[in-house]
Amino acid sequence: MDCLSARSPWERVALMFGAQLGKTETGNNWIGYTIHHSPGPMLAIMPTVQMAQRNSKQRIDPLIEETPALKALVSASKSRDSGNTILQKDFPGGTLVMTGANSAVGLRSMAAGKLFLDEVDAYPGDVDGEGDPIQLATARARTFARRKILLTSTPTIAGRSKIEAVLEESDQRRYYVPCLHCGHMQTLIFANLKWDKGNPSSVRYVCPACEGLMYNHDKTAMLAAGKWVAAPGSKYDGKTAGFYLSSLYSPVGWFSWEEIALAWEQAGSLDSKRKAFINTILGETWRERGEAPEWHQIQANCKGDYHVAMVPKGALFLTATVDVQSDRLEVEIRGWGRHRESWSVDYEIIQCFKTTSAGKQVVCRTNEPEPWRDLDALLDAEWPCVGGGTMPIWCMGIDTGYSAQDVYDYCLKHPQPDYQKTRTNVYCERTVIPIKGGHSSTKLIENISEHDAAQKRGGLRIVTIGVNVAKQMVFNALWKRKADDDSTAGMIHFPLEYGESYFKTLCAEERFVTDKGVEFRKKANERNEGLDLAGYQVAMAELCGISQLTEEQWVELEVRRESMAQPVATLPSVQPSRQVQAERVEERPRETETQAVNPWVQDQDRAVEGGYFERKRGGWLGRR
Ligand SMILES: [Zn+2]
Repeated sequence: MDCLSARSPWERVALMFGAQLGKTETGNNWIGYTIHHSPGPMLAIMPTVQMAQRNSKQRIDPLIEETPALKALVSASKSRDSGNTILQKDFPGGTLVMTGANSAVGLRSMAAGKLFLDEVDAYPGDVDGEGDPIQLATARARTFARRKILLTSTPTIAGRSKIEAVLEESDQRRYYVPCLHCGHMQTLIFANLKWDKGNPSSVRYVCPACEGLMYNHDKTAMLAAGKWVAAPGSKYDGKTAGFYLSSLYSPVGWFSWEEIALAWEQAGSLDSKRKAFINTILGETWRERGEAPEWHQIQANCKGDYHVAMVPKGALFLTATVDVQSDRLEVEIRGWGRHRESWSVDYEIIQCFKTTSAGKQVVCRTNEPEPWRDLDALLDAEWPCVGGGTMPIWCMGIDTGYSAQDVYDYCLKHPQPDYQKTRTNVYCERTVIPIKGGHSSTKLIENISEHDAAQKRGGLRIVTIGVNVAKQMVFNALWKRKADDDSTAGMIHFPLEYGESYFKTLCAEERFVTDKGVEFRKKANERNEGLDLAGYQVAMAELCGISQLTEEQWVELEVRRESMAQPVATLPSVQPSRQVQAERVEERPRETETQAVNPWVQDQDRAVEGGYFERKRGGWLGRR
């Protein structure tokens, strides 16, 4: 209350309390003080208009009625004009307007030097399309030099709680009370409340310093000897006083420690009930538990027995995904087999360099041609297979999120799929598809842009991928262990050479289940390219028809791979070829072209002439 007095310099006062600790009462007292001692325009905002009406009738009216000083001021005004309604009280020198945070009209009703924002975590995020109600309300006080704003709430979810955000900018005061045995000043915390399981009446508070026991009735003495101690954090704004209080401090006769113990037992292990307990009783934000694979566990579980840049046994076609950053392209190559089992074959980071006229190598950016030429070399490469033979990349997807036009330009120089009504036909090897991430939580291939919209992209159609669905599939795959029957269906394997940095970016996001469905969020300060590319891979395999291949076609793929496992008689000795770009738009009959040297593979001996798929339209992945 001191901070709210007209003499106090604090501009904002924030209370993050458990339920039933007198938050609203604090505000109502302030209303009374304002009417009596410091009149001026005042706005009191509850989460809804109905709650404002209820608070006015049940709390404010009795407050005025039963306090002679207030009654005289407000009724005096009443007799002069009709300025007194349920939601408005006029008094000499000021007006009190009460409204709900769900009413933009109410929030804009008047400028006020004093704002009482009650239960702000229950406010809507956006009111009538006009934005955050707290900001709307705060704007009403902007012109007052000596404005004062009281915000109170029980908190909700960590990171999204409005009151928590304000508390972080405050001087963060907590109430310290002494141990009745050793005098140790401490904040009361739930972890020190002990009771015998199933018997809440055995509850006692254990001093962490002396292990002395205190009981509910001891609270009166402890609270009387307590004091607020501030501990401002790095976001302290210098003008906000903030107070934390949990129901552990509830005075004797109100909410007892026994009731707290009982409430915890009743909450059980249900997240929803625990959340209510943490929010309303402890007055703390609830930290949502996101699920995320642990990188070192995944590294241990999913590491294959093959080397990087080799296509392991079982992989029958290759896809690639590309993430474009300002200074680099990141590329993952993946081999796919039956039952969606897959093998990461290679992960390349193409750093952007170009050679100046003076012959010097300098760093450049992805909007210059050099990195795309490097990507071409990678796309042109044949990938050697364990057991013999090579494979081309069948289909590559490039994220258009960073620099769409560069990606469109690149894709236009390469074959595009045949998009039909019911399915997509990637009929040509080294097809390159522009892709982007969408928000669907139900569809893996969320959308394929229409031709009409594509005019300005030179006829390119862009595939939107439901990244939440895709990442869920990746998580499922990462979490999958070999089943009892030794099934490896759906598993992802990684080459022996992949290290910590890769697995960290693969495991950089947490999965949350929200009202809107499954959602993936990046952990703080982590890079997530590995997971982004892995998610897109799932979609590329789908575009290649992995879920539609018949048994006959799988067998054909296996036979094809098997038949390549012959010793190679002659090796090509041709330098990487740079095709005339225009040729790429059409099908790419490359019968006359011998195998390019694969700059991405050390062991060139394994690269063979011919290649894996028929190098013409109708290569069999296209014959579906
Ligand atoms: Zn003690």
